[in-house]
Amino acid sequence: MRYLNLVFAAFLLSLVTQSAAAQGFSLASLPYPYDALAPVIDEQTMRIHHGRHHQAYVDNLNKAVAASPALAELSLEALLTQVSKTSDAVRNNGGGHWNHGFFWQSMTRPGEGGAPSAELLAAINRDLGSLDQFKAAFRAAGLSRFGSGWAWLIVTADGKLKITSTPNQDNPLMDVVADRGTPILGNDLWEHAYYLHYQNRRGDYLEAWWQVVNWSVVSSRYAEARRTRE
Ligand code: MN
Repeated sequence: MRYLNLVFAAFLLSLVTQSAAAQGFSLASLPYPYDALAPVIDEQTMRIHHGRHHQAYVDNLNKAVAASPALAELSLEALLTQVSKTSDAVRNNGGGHWNHGFFWQSMTRPGEGGAPSAELLAAINRDLGSLDQFKAAFRAAGLSRFGSGWAWLIVTADGKLKITSTPNQDNPLMDVVADRGTPILGNDLWEHAYYLHYQNRRGDYLEAWWQVVNWSVVSSRYAEARRTRE
C-alpha cells in the first residue's frame, strides 16, 4: 500500500513536471520572505520587483519564445549564450529572467551573508587588490553605469576575477557583450531596484547592499566556475 502511494505520488509529480515544461519558463518564489532584506531593501520594493517586474520578464520571454518554436527547445542559458541569433525580445526578457533569478539567490538577511571563502578571498586579493578595493571598484562600476543595467563580478575565460557592467538586461553570458565570463555576483542598477527607499541615491543603495550579499552563494559559484574550468 505504501509502495502504491509512492508510485502514485511519482505519477502525480510527473504530470506536474510535464505541464510546467509545456508552459515554458516560470517565476520561482524568492528563497526568503519579502521583508527579509529590510531595511536594506524594503518589503514593498521586493514585492513589486519580484511579483511585477520579474514576472513580466518571464511572461514576455514565454511570448517571445512561442513566436519562434525552434527556441522553445533551448534552456535559458543556451538562449543567452547564442542570443545574437534571437530577437531583441528574447535578449531583453531572457536576460531579465536570468539576471533576476541570479540576483535573488545572491542575497540573504542583513548580516547573515557570511564572508568570502578562503579560496575566493585569495582570488579577490590577487586580481582586485583587496576585499575593500573590490567593493569600492564594484560600487564605482555601478555608479558609472548611465541609465539602467547591472554590475557584475565574473570569472573570465583565463580564470581571473573581473568587475564588469552591462546595460539594460544584458549579462556576461551573452555572446553580444564585450566582457564575457561566468558571473558569480550581480547587482541590479535599475531604479526599480531601489527608488522607493533610496530615490536618486544609487550610491547609498550600492553601499548598503553589501549587508545582504550572500557570500556563501558567491563562494560556491566561484568554486563551481573553477571546477568547470578544470
Ligand atoms: Mn530589476
